[in-house]
Amino acid sequence: MKIHEYQAKNLFSSYGIPVEKYVLCYDAEEACAAYDAMQMERVVVKAQVLTGGRGKAGGVKLVKKREEVSQYAGNILGMTIKEYKVEKVIISEAVHIASEYYVSFTIDRNTKSVILMMSAEGGMDIEEVAATMPDKILKFPIDPLIGIPDYLARRFAFELFENSAQVSQMASIIQKLYKLFTDKDASLAEINPLVLTIEGNLIAIDAKMTFDNNALYRQPQILTLFEPTEAEKTEAYAKEKGFSYVQLDGEIGCMVNGAGLAMTTMDMIKLYGGHPANFLDIGGSSNPNKVIDAMALLLRDAKVRVVLINIFGGITRCDDVASGLLTAFEKLKTNIPVIVRLTGTNEKEGREMLKGTRFRVAETMGEAVQLAVNS
Ligand code: GDP
Ligand code: MN
Repeated sequence: MKIHEYQAKNLFSSYGIPVEKYVLCYDAEEACAAYDAMQMERVVVKAQVLTGGRGKAGGVKLVKKREEVSQYAGNILGMTIKEYKVEKVIISEAVHIASEYYVSFTIDRNTKSVILMMSAEGGMDIEEVAATMPDKILKFPIDPLIGIPDYLARRFAFELFENSAQVSQMASIIQKLYKLFTDKDASLAEINPLVLTIEGNLIAIDAKMTFDNNALYRQPQILTLFEPTEAEKTEAYAKEKGFSYVQLDGEIGCMVNGAGLAMTTMDMIKLYGGHPANFLDIGGSSNPNKVIDAMALLLRDAKVRVVLINIFGGITRCDDVASGLLTAFEKLKTNIPVIVRLTGTNEKEGREMLKGTRFRVAETMGEAVQLAVNS
């Protein structure tokens, strides 16, 4: 689960990590009022969306005089950044930047531990730094039993700073960020950039946090920050109905029984040049209500132009599945093409029942997938 910058900064503040002052605004008028209340000449207008790269997309603007506030806030509030509509901005105190650093904690699969990543080359080009100069990004695995005591925090801080006042500030930020990361079951806590101001202070001017969904049951405070995207709302609906469902961005809706078969179906679609719209395991049952719910789920996604139903009949018999499908589609009002591949117990009977109906029936998986890709 992701949260917005302003939400992450609230958490940073509560853990004592320095952030600049800011006010959340939903329209240009509020932005102007915030600007007046802050009584600072230079502020930054920043889009609040659940994605990075806002700076490069024009979603971060430095304001030097009052007239620019409503102009920039108005522009940014109308923007879409990587498919996310900007619905709120923060007006934040502008800082005088001497240099930009990168600091984050994340989970590293190689070392099977939390790692601290730091770089003196922080800022908007960090991805490029990582790709072209990977040795400029320092990585330190953290032993969970030791954590980050003072001596380690200072050792890490010395990697980026020499001045003792800055080393102390950095060591404290590292410890607090680590505590926040572990307390809240985060999978990412990132500051990019952490800036050194010309006055000599370290301050987090950006904040990004992601949390482990499997831990949300014990993180009620974090859960209140959840703002589901359309795809996440659909996934929540699927969960409620008892399906395993992941939304993707293709056009072939998949309804499959069994996770392994569902993954194979997605692979086959790719193999034949198509794009799956989702992963969906409806489990083993021929209950027509399940098919109705699953179809409703697939049709929520406007990109779906064909549905591929791939059923392996083991304990569930194919003739039962066929009769479930017929009952379900009597109730469903949709003209979308539906391709059905039934195999396993009583497959002939099942296929026979679907002959001459709205379904296009395939015998093999290859045939079914080709039909779906080409329809
Ligand atoms: P991101 O592009 O989504 O990561 O957004 P950031 O919050 O990291 O902002 C992008 C860039 O805007 C930063 O790397 C800074 O260079 C610049 N920026 C952000 N806030 C300020 C500020 O207060 N003063 C100045 N001078 N630049 C800022
Ligand atoms: Mn950033």
